[in-house]
Order: sequence, then C-alpha cells, then structure tokens
Amino acid sequence: MRKFIAAANWKMNCTKEQAKTLVEDLLAISHTLDKRHLVVLAVPYPYLIMVKDLVGQNNDYFTVAAQNVHHKDHGAYTGEISAAMLASIGVEYVVIGHSERREQFGESNELLAQKINIALEYGLKPIFCCGEPLEVREAGSQNEYVKKQLQESLFHLSTEQMKNVVIAYEPIWAIGTGKTASIEQAQDMHFHLRAMLIKQYDENVANSVSILYGGSVKADNAEALFNCPSVDGGLVGGASLIAADFEKIIEGLK
Ligand code: PGA
Repeated sequence: MRKFIAAANWKMNCTKEQAKTLVEDLLAISHTLDKRHLVVLAVPYPYLIMVKDLVGQNNDYFTVAAQNVHHKDHGAYTGEISAAMLASIGVEYVVIGHSERREQFGESNELLAQKINIALEYGLKPIFCCGEPLEVREAGSQNEYVKKQLQESLFHLSTEQMKNVVIAYEPIWAIGTGKTASIEQAQDMHFHLRAMLIKQYDENVANSVSILYGGSVKADNAEALFNCPSVDGGLVGGASLIAADFEKIIEGLK
C-alpha cells in the first residue's frame, strides 16, 4: 500500500550547520510516526551524505532525496550529478520536474522522461512534479495540462516501474506565494490524477502511487489538505525550513 509522505524541498537554502540542526530537531519526533508515514528530506547535494548519516541506516521513517539528477549516465557534463552517483551514496528518492527547473532551466516533458528513466534504472524513486501555471488554471484547462505532463514524462513506464514513482501536484501559482490551492481544488486534481493512473495502468498501480500536494503547504493548513481522500501528503518548500512548522506538517499525515 502507498505511503503518506511529508517531503521537504529545501531548494537552495541552509548552511551545513543549519542543515545539521534542522535534521537533528526533526529526528527527535521519529517516535511519533508509524510505518505508513515517511518523511523525505530533499536537501542540496553537498549535504546528502551528512543528512543520510544523521538519519542512519534502516530508518523506517526518514529518508533523503536529491532535488535533481542529470539525464545522462556519465561523461563530460561539468557541474552535473548522475543517478549512479546518487545511488552510490544511498540516496533513495529524487525530485524530478520541479516547476522551478522547468521554468528556469528549460526542462521539457521529454527531457524529464529521460531523467525518470535513468533514475529508475539506478533504483532511485522519482518524485515527479506536475502542475499548471495560473493562466491555465484561469482558463479551466488544468486537467488537460497535467495529463499531458504525465503522458509525456511517465506513461511510457511499465506497471512495475510506475509503482516506484511518487507524483507531486504543485500548481505553479501556489508555489512560494502563500496562495494555497483550496481543499476542493486539491482533491479534484488528485482524484483526476488517480483516475488517469487507473485508466493508463490499473487500480493496483493507482493505489500504490502516493500523490502529494505542493504549493504553500503550511503548519496551519497541512492537516486539512492531507485529510482529503485523494491526497497522500505534501511536498513542502518554505515551511520545511523551520523545524517546528515542518514537525506540525508531519503530524498532519496522521
Ligand atoms: P512552497 O514550495 O511550499 O514554498 O510553496 C513548494 C515547492 O516548491 O515544492
């Protein structure tokens, strides 16, 4: 059965000391979690090994993620990080297709399909981000927009591969804006996403894939969002940098 996940996306934030303190604070609440819950910490590359060590081996409740991966196996790509490298240091998840990478680095659905493939090839579980910009939402075409993102980046996967993917629905107009999607908007889209998985694959796959909501998830709205029947947790940016806030968000998984 799918997990309920609170994923922290630190983006380009935190010094090493801040990272260490934040993770130590969060680990103090491990005992409040149960087997259905998972906290994924998507931290900047330089801290992956440290955070992995802090989390420890065989931690059932906490794990680490990279925020990006290169689409090629290895080679002359100065400054890039491969799936093989991430796998070799024990990273379990990788965020793929965040809207900031799509917008600022021109990552297309086709490129993201290649990133998904290489991540899975090396045993990394992708957290695939999708979501529409404001003008698409205002035109009421968000369902078709997100469907295309899934069709072009994910739906070539086999049934077994798809079960290792986490989907994060992040409406772009809600990211970092303080303008969270309403409960109805989140529930409608997540229902639509799961229906697409049923149509493309089957009930079993649809029930195995965790679908997270992202975009201004905060300590005071997480529980209501996570209580939606089709929402399996969240991908959290700003509020994941404050231990007390993210702890409250993790509590919202219950
Ligand atoms: P936010 O970011 O929580 O700061 O809106 C979410 C994200 O970008 O994943």
